[in-house]
Amino acid sequence: MRIGVPLETRANETRVAATPETVKKFISQGHTVIVQSNAGLASSQPDSAYEAVGATIGSAADALGAELVLKVRAPDSNELAQMNTNAVLLGMLDPFDNSNNAAMAAKGITAFALEAAPRTTRAQSLDVLSSQANIAGYKAVMVAANEYQRFMPMLMTAAGTVKAARVLILGAGVAGLQAIATAKRLGAVIEASDVRPAAKEQIESLGAKFVDVPYETEEEREIAQGVGGYARPMPASWMQRQAALVAERAKQADIVIATALIPGRKAPTLLHSETVSQMKPGSVVIDLAAGKGENGGGNCPLTEADKVVTKHGVKLVGYTNLASMVAADASALYARNLLDFMKLIIDKEAKLAIPTDDDIVTACLMCQSGQVLRQNA
Ligand code: NAD
Repeated sequence: MRIGVPLETRANETRVAATPETVKKFISQGHTVIVQSNAGLASSQPDSAYEAVGATIGSAADALGAELVLKVRAPDSNELAQMNTNAVLLGMLDPFDNSNNAAMAAKGITAFALEAAPRTTRAQSLDVLSSQANIAGYKAVMVAANEYQRFMPMLMTAAGTVKAARVLILGAGVAGLQAIATAKRLGAVIEASDVRPAAKEQIESLGAKFVDVPYETEEEREIAQGVGGYARPMPASWMQRQAALVAERAKQADIVIATALIPGRKAPTLLHSETVSQMKPGSVVIDLAAGKGENGGGNCPLTEADKVVTKHGVKLVGYTNLASMVAADASALYARNLLDFMKLIIDKEAKLAIPTDDDIVTACLMCQSGQVLRQNA
């Protein structure tokens, strides 16, 4: 097949969907690859590196006009216009965005949104949410260390002792667990909260303290189990008790890293404005849910998407694409995820063969032959 790798056009998007490593594999499998000029530049992959493995460098129209287009983010209307009807598209295509799904279907393309893959063992090697959230969790701690005006580890010096930073992590999925591990390596003292009972053991195994909000009813316990590994919105009673405990812990914390998400819903509010007003001056909040919460905030309503703002003496960081700030490794892992997904839809003769009975493929398939195949509420 003719595979196209366009330059990503969305603001702050520095990743690329194929690296010279994966392009080399595509070519060895019998595909031809056309990479838009400078597509890999922001992730430290110059055109020459792609050419060296056999790719052709071309324009946006060349890359978007391929039979199979590999992207990081969903195409905008301008990009869609340059694609061929019947093209196949792979990317992180916002599966919950109905208007985007409709636009892709109207174009007639076959689109796979890899975020929709089930969180199963077989899907692990193509799990884009995990590969990118892992990086975001790491980078969140790096950004926090940078914004924080004190040390992370405890230091005993001739000029006196410096206390270790206290870090509170809200949401211990892939990003939150990596944030715990990274903050631990820097010597911080860490507490973490999650709604799912399975998270307790994972938090403790990384050396952090679990902030326990006990379930008081069978309903709370049942909802907290989540579905497919994902959290569900908790009843207001549990959220209130959690908010009270988070407020208490946040007052003691120097850094809060919030990562809580519920697929297809607004991100829950976990760090209320009043709590921020009671935090220590100079504290830092990194809100990975920025832009996904109520009124454009994140897990904290005071966060502003893609901005660093100071409110009540607390620095609130709302970067929405932390993975993109580690562009080279984020691209490398993402490109391997796509390579693994392609094994499911391309046969040994390098021809498209989309199975109808593969749970990963059917979960990711957003639209085909002009029809939207995913029904969002
Ligand atoms: P996510 O990004 O959807 O959410 C982040 C975290 O926020 C989750 O841990 C969630 O429980 C938590 N959260 C939601 N509401 C909360 C609240 N009110 N308070 C505190 N925390 C709250 O999650 P994710 O990182 O994508 O992980 C989702 C699930 O997928 C997890 O169960 C994870 O173990 C699982 N997973 C499985 C595999 C696999 O088996 N292949 C791979 C990766 C992840």
